[in-house]
Amino acid sequence: MTAAAGTTIDAVPSSGPFAGTVMPTVLLTTHELRTGLLPRLCSRCGEPTDDSIRLTVPTPLAQLALAAFLTFCPPLFVALALFLKKRSSVAVPMCRLHGNDWRRRDGLTSITYLLMICGSYLAAWAVGLLTQIDPAVPALAYLFIWMAWIAPATLLWTRTVRITKVTPWDVRLSGVDPAFVEALREDRARDADSARLPWHGDVRADYDDQPD
Ligand SMILES: [Zn+2]
Repeated sequence: MTAAAGTTIDAVPSSGPFAGTVMPTVLLTTHELRTGLLPRLCSRCGEPTDDSIRLTVPTPLAQLALAAFLTFCPPLFVALALFLKKRSSVAVPMCRLHGNDWRRRDGLTSITYLLMICGSYLAAWAVGLLTQIDPAVPALAYLFIWMAWIAPATLLWTRTVRITKVTPWDVRLSGVDPAFVEALREDRARDADSARLPWHGDVRADYDDQPD
């Protein structure tokens, strides 16, 4: 389902754990994100708020590097994620309650990644280099631990605001409240700045019906 001004409402899942749940998404331009041109409403519940979270917005290239490092070189993933957090994070409005919830999920994901994934990756290298054991064994053990981590970590992020697509011009956020989307649409209608429109006002951008 598609609405105007780069806002979309995903199809309601008919099965699975989120059956019947409407999970709206919104395209925010990098211009809006960097200049803070966002409604003062919690992006998660739509209530008025002056609080916000810091969301890392990577470039598409950095996003690709993060995706590769996430599995194949966890220490580099951590280094790049920390670097991007300092250099490319933006404020996204979120009330105190949902901001704390978001930060809890962020903290839990980060700590378990450091302990489980970075830990087992380094251990696998140590076993492969320092013992007589076939290096395929620790490598496989690492991949099993990685898979055991990624499934709950992904599930943890399905019920809150998260980035689901990055282009050089805009970012798609999923899990946002319809009131936030509507307020953004009204703000854009009042503001003639074409830099606020996804793809710089190209109406084709409104047809963003890709599922998550
Ligand atoms: Zn909220």
